[in-house]
Amino acid sequence: MAGGIVYGAGFIDNFRVVHIRADKKSDFFFGSKYVQSYIGTIYREVKKDLNSGRRVLFSGAPCQVIGLKKCLNREYENLITVDFICHGVPSPDIWDRYAACLMKKYGSNIKISFRDKNLSWNEFSFTVRDGEDKILYSKTLNEDPYLKAFLKNITLCEACSNCNFRGSNRKSDITLADFWRVEEYFTKFNDNAGTSVIILNSIQGKKLLEIIKPQLVYQEFHDYHILLTGNPTYMEPQMLWLKRNKFFKEIQNSDKDVIYLLTRYTKGSLWERGKRKVKQGIRKIIKSFILLNGKEI
Ligand SMILES: Cc1cc2nc3c(=O)[nH]c(=O)nc-3n(C[C@H](O)[C@H](O)[C@H](O)COP(=O)(O)OP(=O)(O)OC[C@H]3O[C@@H](n4cnc5c(N)ncnc54)[C@H](O)[C@@H]3O)c2cc1C
Repeated sequence: MAGGIVYGAGFIDNFRVVHIRADKKSDFFFGSKYVQSYIGTIYREVKKDLNSGRRVLFSGAPCQVIGLKKCLNREYENLITVDFICHGVPSPDIWDRYAACLMKKYGSNIKISFRDKNLSWNEFSFTVRDGEDKILYSKTLNEDPYLKAFLKNITLCEACSNCNFRGSNRKSDITLADFWRVEEYFTKFNDNAGTSVIILNSIQGKKLLEIIKPQLVYQEFHDYHILLTGNPTYMEPQMLWLKRNKFFKEIQNSDKDVIYLLTRYTKGSLWERGKRKVKQGIRKIIKSFILLNGKEI
């Protein structure tokens, strides 16, 4: 931390996701939490630290970085901001309900990961582990109802569909993202353990990267089309799912369990489910064919 302060998002009681301040190294911030984090009075705390001359790294969604900059109302040389390419953020209300169901089933002494890369990075999993790290629940992004609803844009906050803080409109120094479809451009990085993209938006960002470069395995590229192939949300916001409002009305007005509703809404039509089954079948055949030929997958 080099005497600086870090602000980022992490879990507090009952797995609520909030922004907090840290002046010591901690794993509190590690891992993406696919929900809108609660900002509270954090911008004021950042301002106080900056005015007292402390070096600050603020990490958050693009809109949260813009919110901070608006609140500060002037540039600070001692501030570095980091955001990510953002699909959109799910409603905290839906997350609270889902987390409550998980705690009811597995107890409150659990660890939750929205993006466990143990099985695979491409098809990451939502996992729940106990205090000893034993897996109690693990479902991939195509199976877990919370992740499915997030990726189908059912649970996103309404404002996300009109998000303007994309492309060059973002105000952060550094943008982090997953390098989806890396296999099409840089095969040597395609290890399914996870490849990130670091986008440098300012001189400050470039300076910071120079400091950490010796610890990275990296390759530079300057063609934005490479990034956009796998990550169109860098430029364009997601469209909300057509039945999103129906889902929110139903969840607020019925006493039905959130898991039941998420599962029902993410099931897809008969046609979609058929298509998915065929795709899975083809993928399995290709995998076994490659294995039979003794090549790496
Ligand atoms: C809601 C959301 C949507 C995303 N959508 C995309 C996408 O469409 N495409 C893509 O390539 N990448 C997306 N990402 C980014 C991706 O999940 C990774 O965060 C990124 O690749 C960096 O990974 P990492 O493992 O290095 O860092 P991570 O461990 O994931 O953490 C990076 C930082 O993000 C902050 N953070 C985590 N969760 C939140 C949150 N809910 N709100 C604010 N800050 C948070 C933490 O403070 C941490 O410092 C999204 C992230 C989030 C939280």
